[in-house]
Amino acid sequence: MAVAEKMNRFIENSSWIRKMFEEGARLKQIYGEDKVFDFSIGNPNVPPPDVVDEILLELAQSKDPGRHGYMPNAGLPSTRSAMSAYFCGEFCISLAREQVVVTCGAAGGLNIIFKALLDPGDEVVCPAPYFVEYNFYVDNHGGVLKSVPVLEADFNLDLERMAQEIGPRTKVVLINSPNNPTGQIYPEETIAKLGEILTAKSSQFGHTIYLVSDEPYRKIVYDDCNVPCVFVHYPNSLITGSYSKDLSLPGERIGFVAVSPSAENGGRLVEALTLANRILGFVNAPAMMQRLVERLQGICVDVSIYRTKRDRLVEALSGFGYELAVPRGAFYLFPKSPIPDDLAFVRLLQEENILCVPGSGFAGPGHFRIAYCVSDATIEGALPGFERTIQRARNL
Ligand code: PLP
Repeated sequence: MAVAEKMNRFIENSSWIRKMFEEGARLKQIYGEDKVFDFSIGNPNVPPPDVVDEILLELAQSKDPGRHGYMPNAGLPSTRSAMSAYFCGEFCISLAREQVVVTCGAAGGLNIIFKALLDPGDEVVCPAPYFVEYNFYVDNHGGVLKSVPVLEADFNLDLERMAQEIGPRTKVVLINSPNNPTGQIYPEETIAKLGEILTAKSSQFGHTIYLVSDEPYRKIVYDDCNVPCVFVHYPNSLITGSYSKDLSLPGERIGFVAVSPSAENGGRLVEALTLANRILGFVNAPAMMQRLVERLQGICVDVSIYRTKRDRLVEALSGFGYELAVPRGAFYLFPKSPIPDDLAFVRLLQEENILCVPGSGFAGPGHFRIAYCVSDATIEGALPGFERTIQRARNL
């Protein structure tokens, strides 16, 4: 077999999200688009704001020499400046352009962070359930992912268990808020306590433990919630984010990494991130997208559209008897599976042409994920099937 053994294993076990997405494509061919209710993937259905197309048209007409050329690996200075100026307000901290690296999405951001920070065998401690691609990203750079279950009641961090899992090989603690798949936002006091734990553990083990906050959903929040800023609570922290969800541009691959101005050796860290952007083959984030987002700092799709979908689903599913925590952000619901085997339950839903992802696919067994960034017709069409399926499951 020509393909590497490890890749063979990865292909066999690759994500449930993709599997369900592919199953959706198959079912749509058989039954037709409108008969399949696909909640499998977090691909935003809300169109980008009109201003995105307006700026793109303008950029496409530009005759500036060098507009398609290579550039500094950390990104266009003007884009980095626009981002850092915006982040000063967003993150309540003074941030210079030099502390921002423009990336190919948050996925590119995480990969350059791990490349910059991990030596082989270093550990990344991460609350579970988590975005399943983390396994691959950590492995890409020789790291080992150690997961720690969140609290069952509200999906908040189990700080006691996290503290127990942080050991001499821990280099990074990785959090994601608002969270995929739970939709929860970690409260300010939790982040503050995590900061204290990391300060104590760094001094106990004699090396810096970095806090990495993955925040592609930072602006997709409801009920006047705010996402607390890790920079305020821990000096050695990094934030990665993107424009995939808040501008509905996931295919365009544009995001950022910001390094706390208080990070030790922050300059060297940014150098490492910049080199990682180059040597991982990203080279730099797409030029036209950099010029686009430079002019769209703080702009977001209409979040009320997602809130309406969340509210409809929460109300209807709770009414059918599903147990769920109301998500405060992102566009995912993570209800309890009515039977212990979440894979079996997802298969029952599939018989109604409803596609969800089992919680086991996120290291969160006993639940299933509904990505509700879909049309209202998909939601309404699926509701009778959700009701029938919980009734069937109860009679099993
Ligand atoms: N992190 C989380 C938690 C995600 O859910 C996603 C995408 O769904 C990503 C990172 C990757 O996002 P991007 O498109 O910005 O690379």
